[in-house]
Amino acid sequence: MKKEAILYEKLDGVLNCHVCNRHCVISNGKTGFCEMRQNDNGTMYSLNYASASSVAVDPIEKKPLFHFYPGSLSFSLGSIGCNFTCPYCQNWAISQAYLDEVGTRNILPDKAIKLAHENHCKSISWTYNEPTMWFEYTYDSAKMAQKENLKTVYVTNGYMGEEALDLIAPYLDAANVDLKGMSNKFYHELCEARLEPVLENIQTMHDSGIHLEVTNLIIPGYNDSEEDLKALVKFVADVGVEIPLHFTRFYPHYKMNQVPPTPVETLEKAQKMAIDAGIKYVYMGNVPTSDGENTRCPECKKLLIERDGFHIAANNLKKDKKCPECGAKIGILI
Ligand code: SF4
Repeated sequence: MKKEAILYEKLDGVLNCHVCNRHCVISNGKTGFCEMRQNDNGTMYSLNYASASSVAVDPIEKKPLFHFYPGSLSFSLGSIGCNFTCPYCQNWAISQAYLDEVGTRNILPDKAIKLAHENHCKSISWTYNEPTMWFEYTYDSAKMAQKENLKTVYVTNGYMGEEALDLIAPYLDAANVDLKGMSNKFYHELCEARLEPVLENIQTMHDSGIHLEVTNLIIPGYNDSEEDLKALVKFVADVGVEIPLHFTRFYPHYKMNQVPPTPVETLEKAQKMAIDAGIKYVYMGNVPTSDGENTRCPECKKLLIERDGFHIAANNLKKDKKCPECGAKIGILI
C-alpha cells in the first residue's frame, strides 16, 4: 500500500529521507536506496505500508530473544527491502527484492494486532527484513499494540536515523540488534553502510530502557579476528554486561557460498572472551553443542533455562527471577 511518509524534509526540489542513516536525497519520481520510499511530485510516500511478504507465529527464541518472555509466541511480520546489501543475507529473496517481485498481502495494524491475540502471542515482531523499511507501519502498529497489551519487538540492523529511533522508542519493548562486526571496513564493503550509527543506536536503545539483545554472526576471514571479537565484547560490556550476546555460526549462503562455515572453536573462543569481559549471558547459535543456547546462572552456573532448538525444554526460574540455587538476580523478563 502506498501511504504518505513521515520523517522527511523538502530541500531545493528534492526530498531528504531521515528514516535511516543513509539520509537519501531523492528527486522527483525516484526512490531511495531501499526502493521503498518515493518522491512523488514533492511528497514522500512509503510504498510498502502494511505490505507483508511474510507472516508467522514464531517462538520468541527464534528472533533470537532469550531473556524476553521465554517460551512465548510472537506474531511476526516482514515486508520487502533493506538499507543494507549483506552478501550473506538469509532473507535475500525479500530483502533485496523490488516491490513487484514479491507477493504481499495487506495487513493493517488493527488486523495484525487482532491476529496476534487470536494466535495467543505475547508480542508482535517486525522481522525477516529490516523493520525500518516500513517504518510508518511499525510505528502505527507499535502505538496500537501498546494500548492493546501486546509487547513490540524489532529485529534490526540498528541503522535507523536518530529521529526514527526517538519516535518509536517509547513504543518498543525489545530489540535484537545484529551487530555485524566492529570495523568500518566490514560495514562499508559488505553492507555499504557505516559502523558508528549502529553503535550509537545500541547505546540509545539501552539508555531508553528497551530490552536489548545483540547478535553477531561470525564469518570466517571477515569479522573473526581476535581484534574484532575483542572490540565487540568490549563494546557490549561497556554498554551493559546484562545484555545477552548471541554469537551465531555462519553457513555458506547467497553470494558467499565459497566461505566455509564458522569453526565451532571460533565460537567457543568468542564466548569465552565475552564471559571474561564480564558479559553475563553469552550464547552460541546454529552450533551442534548441547549447552550453547541454555541460560545458566552467571554466578553459580546452575542450569536455569534449557532450550531445544527454539523450544524451552525446562525452565527452573520462578517468578522472583532469582537463581533457585544461589539466589542471584537473573536479568530476564518472564
Ligand atoms: S529508509 Fe533509508 S535507504 Fe530508504 S529512502 Fe530512507 S534513507 Fe534511503
